[in-house]
Amino acid sequence: MITSKTLKLSLKSLKDFAKKRLPDEVLRELDDKDECPVEIVHHMCSPDKLGIQLLFIPEEFGGMGGGTFDVYCVCEEMARIDLGVATAVLATFLGSDPIFVGATPEQKKLWLTRIAEEGLLFAYGATEPEAGSDLGALRTTAEPVIENGRTVGYKISGNKQWISNGGIADAYTILASAPAGPSWFVVEKGVKGFTHDEPEDKHGIRLSNTAALALDNVYVAADRLLGGVEGQGLIQAQAVFGYTRLMVAAFGLGGGWSALDRAIPYSTKRIQAGAPLSEKQGYTHKLIVPNVARLEAARSYIEETAERIDAKTEGSLNTEGAIAKYMATEAGNAAAEASIQALGGYGYTHEYMVEKIKRDVRITTIYEGTSEIMEMTISRDRWQLHLKTRGQHYHDRAKEFEALHARHANVGADIAALALHALAEIMEKARVARLTRYQHILLRLGELIAYAECAGSLARRAALLADGKLNEKANRRFDTTALAAISRVFARDAALKVAEEGLRWVIGAGGISDADIAGFETSLGLPAIHRAQSGLISDLDYVADVLYGRAAKRLEAAA
Ligand SMILES: Cc1cc2nc3c(=O)[nH]c(=O)nc-3n(C[C@H](O)[C@H](O)[C@H](O)COP(=O)(O)OP(=O)(O)OC[C@H]3O[C@@H](n4cnc5c(N)ncnc54)[C@H](O)[C@@H]3O)c2cc1C
Repeated sequence: MITSKTLKLSLKSLKDFAKKRLPDEVLRELDDKDECPVEIVHHMCSPDKLGIQLLFIPEEFGGMGGGTFDVYCVCEEMARIDLGVATAVLATFLGSDPIFVGATPEQKKLWLTRIAEEGLLFAYGATEPEAGSDLGALRTTAEPVIENGRTVGYKISGNKQWISNGGIADAYTILASAPAGPSWFVVEKGVKGFTHDEPEDKHGIRLSNTAALALDNVYVAADRLLGGVEGQGLIQAQAVFGYTRLMVAAFGLGGGWSALDRAIPYSTKRIQAGAPLSEKQGYTHKLIVPNVARLEAARSYIEETAERIDAKTEGSLNTEGAIAKYMATEAGNAAAEASIQALGGYGYTHEYMVEKIKRDVRITTIYEGTSEIMEMTISRDRWQLHLKTRGQHYHDRAKEFEALHARHANVGADIAALALHALAEIMEKARVARLTRYQHILLRLGELIAYAECAGSLARRAALLADGKLNEKANRRFDTTALAAISRVFARDAALKVAEEGLRWVIGAGGISDADIAGFETSLGLPAIHRAQSGLISDLDYVADVLYGRAAKRLEAAA
């Protein structure tokens, strides 16, 4: 267990270290040279130095026993520093996940202790040239070596593609097809027949080493098969998706915020048409505030999911991990893109860093499951809930937010409820007209579900903050009033998106006759959703004032 104080201290050491060793000019130079700072990565992972990996290793193996919430906080901070270095450090978390989930007690003791004590770097070898989103298509094989009727080892052959830390790891978890099915093996660097290519020349995260691996009859002893039973690989990979996707979600969050935290101060100094850009609504209300709202909605979902995973009562929460990843990484990308615009010509140059952040954060919608795969995962799971509850699932959720609104009238819970009711209606119409036979509709539903659930999550977070009941490790950048305003901004956006885009897809797929459209618009609650936009500009004004530290002055002036 890590206390809130220890977590704060760890995050502070991380920040201090980065300030000293990874200032902007160093990051730019490494990015230019396309070079992974291996020595710095080792420093961050060494137990006698920063020892970041100790956070996630259980205490019984020499670590600090951090939970998912702690890992989210560290991942966000790492991403704020540099997403390439974050990927290099966190690849050890990812690479050792199959060990956490599937290893025997002896294997756990061996590998997790070595990570804690020796600062071993791991890589996670799942993707192949022909098997990306569909891992079931993997071709790497693990052929048993049998002596006296007993399997004493395996010979692994195949290729792995785009493996983070591929050229610098000390050990690799490799997914390969054994006779009983896909299975994870630990392969150490330097063993005969195991090679890696030169690092890839990438669009972004150029400070992380990404390399292809080749395995040519690589022999591993039988005790390198994780869990000691073949055929568990895909189940083991699935079992940690909730957790690993949350890490990448935190990367998106940290990347997006690091871009905005450059755009915000920049805009206070850049004078155009006689005043700083920060005082121009057409600038802040387009480029800054909506991105803040999306990022904070995603943060709420990440924090709630992390708490639920740490409570260990609900399984791996894969769908929730997918929603968090989808929303945070898309929001991170959009925020970085808007930050380039916010810096104008300077934003387009290397020196101001936002273009590098944009290139870096781009990967987060691709690795650990693409956004489209997230949409599919979300939609399929929630579709089952819709069917099982005979269409009531989201109506029931909406009622919870109506009740929350009765207790907290200003956190946007009433608007989140409108989004959820509309979602239930869209899904029901899709069921009746059998619209999910169109893959595009299925995936678009995934997006709408993610928006509606995040609107609810943010309203809940704003209420918890108001009640003084927010997790003590939770981010507290915004106070009660500001978070409530951010929540209302996001909820309006989500409700409108769900109802209008949902309606569009239903009509577009021929799911409704012309004569029935007007009635359906009413059952979606569109008039109420339109009315709920009232107050939007003043909320955007207020959030901008908070971001630019002028909210108190404005309130004083009003009084
Ligand atoms: C820098 C980097 C680091 C990486 N690190 C690692 C690592 O450490 N370990 C590891 O194992 N892998 C790693 N990967 C691989 C990464 O996880 C895959 O690239 C990712 O899962 C997508 O697979 P793919 O590239 O084969 O794309 P594809 O699966 O071929 O997808 C291409 C496009 O098609 C879409 N698509 C795919 N399937 C469907 C479908 N059924 N319906 C609709 N659309 C679909 C995708 O969303 C995407 O837009 C890394 C990749 C990169 C670029």
